[in-house]
Amino acid sequence: MKVIFRTRATILATLATLLISANVASAQIAPAEPRVFIKGVMLIDGTGAPMRGPMNIVVQGDTIKQIEPTTPNISQGRPTSITLVPVPGDQIIDGSGKYVMPGIIEAHMHYHAPLPKAYVYKLFLAHGVTSIRNMDGRIRPDDDFPATMVAEAKRLRAGEEFGPRLWVYAMWPEELTAPEDAAPLIDHWAKLGVDGVKIAFNGGLYPDTFAAIAKAAKRNNLGLAVHIAEARIPGVTALSVAQQATSIEHHYGYAETALKAGDSPDLPPDYNYQDERQRFRTTLGIWLQADLHKLETQTVPQLAALSRDGDFTMVPTMVVYEKQRDLTRAANAPWLERYTVPALLKRWRTPEKTVHGAIFDRWTSLDEAQAAQAYVKWEDMIRLYREQGGHVAVGSDSGGPFQLFGFQTIREMELLEQAGLTPLEVIQSATQEGARVVRAKNLGVLRPGYKADLLILDENPLADLKVLLGDRPPIDADGKPQRRTLIRSVILGGKVIDPDQLLADVEAMTKPNAQTGTP
Ligand SMILES: [Zn+2]
Repeated sequence: MKVIFRTRATILATLATLLISANVASAQIAPAEPRVFIKGVMLIDGTGAPMRGPMNIVVQGDTIKQIEPTTPNISQGRPTSITLVPVPGDQIIDGSGKYVMPGIIEAHMHYHAPLPKAYVYKLFLAHGVTSIRNMDGRIRPDDDFPATMVAEAKRLRAGEEFGPRLWVYAMWPEELTAPEDAAPLIDHWAKLGVDGVKIAFNGGLYPDTFAAIAKAAKRNNLGLAVHIAEARIPGVTALSVAQQATSIEHHYGYAETALKAGDSPDLPPDYNYQDERQRFRTTLGIWLQADLHKLETQTVPQLAALSRDGDFTMVPTMVVYEKQRDLTRAANAPWLERYTVPALLKRWRTPEKTVHGAIFDRWTSLDEAQAAQAYVKWEDMIRLYREQGGHVAVGSDSGGPFQLFGFQTIREMELLEQAGLTPLEVIQSATQEGARVVRAKNLGVLRPGYKADLLILDENPLADLKVLLGDRPPIDADGKPQRRTLIRSVILGGKVIDPDQLLADVEAMTKPNAQTGTP
């Protein structure tokens, strides 16, 4: 290659020309983008790296522009110059004594029409959830899914609608069971603009059909999320699925890799998958049949390798199954009355055979004991898998009974902490790993060039994840609660939002005569 040497003067002249034309171009096309200057805040960047600070952060438009310590770094042997200062017109946030982390990416939620969209969006945003992955669910009961949801995601991203970033997964229909069905439907969905495909029924899990779906999804650069159906086809386990899927949702299919003989659990003779109550009683119990040694020495290393070397991420949604372990807790969380639309809460508390997940009349101590014991094995597996480099994301399955949007996302983080992830790892799961699941570039980490989705907190989330809850008011000197949450600001795409106001709006929507508007 011929090397062209230029004089310093030539280079400077060229640069000057470029700069002038860039300035002229930007002056003609758009006014300067609004800036937010966050002063002197402690930084948790989402990568799992230790907290550091205090830092100054400049957000310009919807992007993080610069991050810099407020004082020179003395360990470098020479002082680093401090260049970041506010300029006139900056929106200044005083971050002293405060903490910043990336906006949370909720990797598994469901819309439940006809809940008002604003109700769902505001609950999530008030908990710092700036991105949601919709795993099936509609805005209106009769809408044209997934087209309507894709259009909604576009409006949200364009700022024409107020709410978190939305990723849309389309549910593979139960009745489509042939490999030839895969390409036409998935190509169609890809053209519509969906982000991924979700399989939750056996129809898409016959190995030949699953392989065809995975191939079509990959060809279209779509995610593939699998809820291994509880009516599992023998041979289909978390290990076989993780070879081709980008995520496994929930806890099914793992214990089956470590049963004493084959992968079929002992089930009661009258076990019927269609009987949801029996199913919920039985499926967690499969963990109690698993050989822990086999699970830890064979399953976990293979799963972790698939995750480290490939696209696979685990989305445990532990919080869904917590109600099996402790129904009283789930059904009586202190925030349910205040922030749940009354009709929804009534439905959740009325056991009804036609409501998915409403299984809890006559839920016994023995049912809870079995769930608690299963949880221990599951937690061990998640911790070991994470220790070996496996990726884990935060999903709450919000929308189902007692799974209140936002609150349960934070509870899922607490449960991962209980499973043995460190607080830094939990925050990484809720941010960087979430971006991995939704396959978004430049999201989930506080880093220049990345999307400006960030949370300013009054207290350190590494010491207490509950500071993210919409039920943790700061207390004044007289012991009176101030505001509703320790999240001081949510910044979404560079726009500063007051989460306290969002919670007030949500509470107003739950009043019996509230005008909640149409979705
Ligand atoms: Zn779900």
